[in-house]
Amino acid sequence: MVKKDKIELLGIGISELEEFVTSLGEARFRGRQIHKWIYQKDEDSFYAMSDLPKELRAKLDEVAIISFPKVLKQRVSKDGTRKYLLEFPDKKRVETVLIPQRNDNEKDIRYSLCLSTQVGCPVGCAFCATGLNGFQRNLTAGEIVGEFLSSRRELKKKVKLKHEQPISNVVYMGMGEPMFNYDEVIKSIYILNDHKGINIGQRSITISTSGDVKGIEKLALENLQVTLAVSLHACDNELRDKLVPINRKYPLESLFKAVEFYIAQTNRRVTFEYVMLDDVNISRKDADNMIKLVKPLLANVNLIPYNEVEGLPYQKPAKDKILQFYNWLVEGGLNVTIREEKGADIEAACGQLQAKR
Ligand code: SF4
Repeated sequence: MVKKDKIELLGIGISELEEFVTSLGEARFRGRQIHKWIYQKDEDSFYAMSDLPKELRAKLDEVAIISFPKVLKQRVSKDGTRKYLLEFPDKKRVETVLIPQRNDNEKDIRYSLCLSTQVGCPVGCAFCATGLNGFQRNLTAGEIVGEFLSSRRELKKKVKLKHEQPISNVVYMGMGEPMFNYDEVIKSIYILNDHKGINIGQRSITISTSGDVKGIEKLALENLQVTLAVSLHACDNELRDKLVPINRKYPLESLFKAVEFYIAQTNRRVTFEYVMLDDVNISRKDADNMIKLVKPLLANVNLIPYNEVEGLPYQKPAKDKILQFYNWLVEGGLNVTIREEKGADIEAACGQLQAKR
């Protein structure tokens, strides 16, 4: 049981940790030592912090806590993707996914980590498993960073790795709409980016949104070097209203205005994610609409052949249809990639996360 009066140290930066230890009558550098244990060595037990005096470890354990989420379950795909079911102290659960970036040399693999930002999701995209169970709560910055630390610790236990830092990229594309939990997401980015701690470069971080215009406008002014990914999925309002319900609040015109503003402010290339649903959004007309919208912008398109979800009526298009759509877009002058499918056999692919046992 988490004692309510204990101070949570997960999610706290170096200067706050220094202040915390001085409030206990200890020297400031003890704060830096604890910081290193948490964010570099993935340690959540004060008793394992071997360079702290024994009495201090006991004192810390009395007054503070570091609540890494518990790994309840992990599944490993045949392509090396790892999905973790994580549980927070209040028993709320999310899933997080580690996607290997290279397969040629087992030991040399580095991973991209897909983080969740909410328990469930209030957006309710028509094709997505996460939305099926509704929304429960936002995660704190500490909990988001905890996903990173628990996953890395578990990975290091299970895989012999060459790199001290096996996670090279972080994408905020798991469960939830990151922009609806804006402040905690931004705070978590600063913690992940801190070069004295986890040290993930800002350019190696991607925030994805289903199209929250206010969030995009705010992010444009943050002076961060992260990548913005926008889940487009349809290029006319009628269809997008059905597939991505946030479109009813922020239709394509306002979404694209916000994206233009973002590019003008940051001069950074935006990625449009586009899930390909058979017989739904991959016609010639859909391609033409997308070309019209995206071509004038500094942007890439990432096509994601649908990963089927039990209970939902959508299907993945056949290979020739995927290629046909891709070719139309390329001929229309867009920068397009087709996302390689990872982890579909363990329901870890895009849109498949549900935090089921
Ligand atoms: S696709 Fe993303 S925004 Fe849409 S319901 Fe799923 S988790 Fe939420």
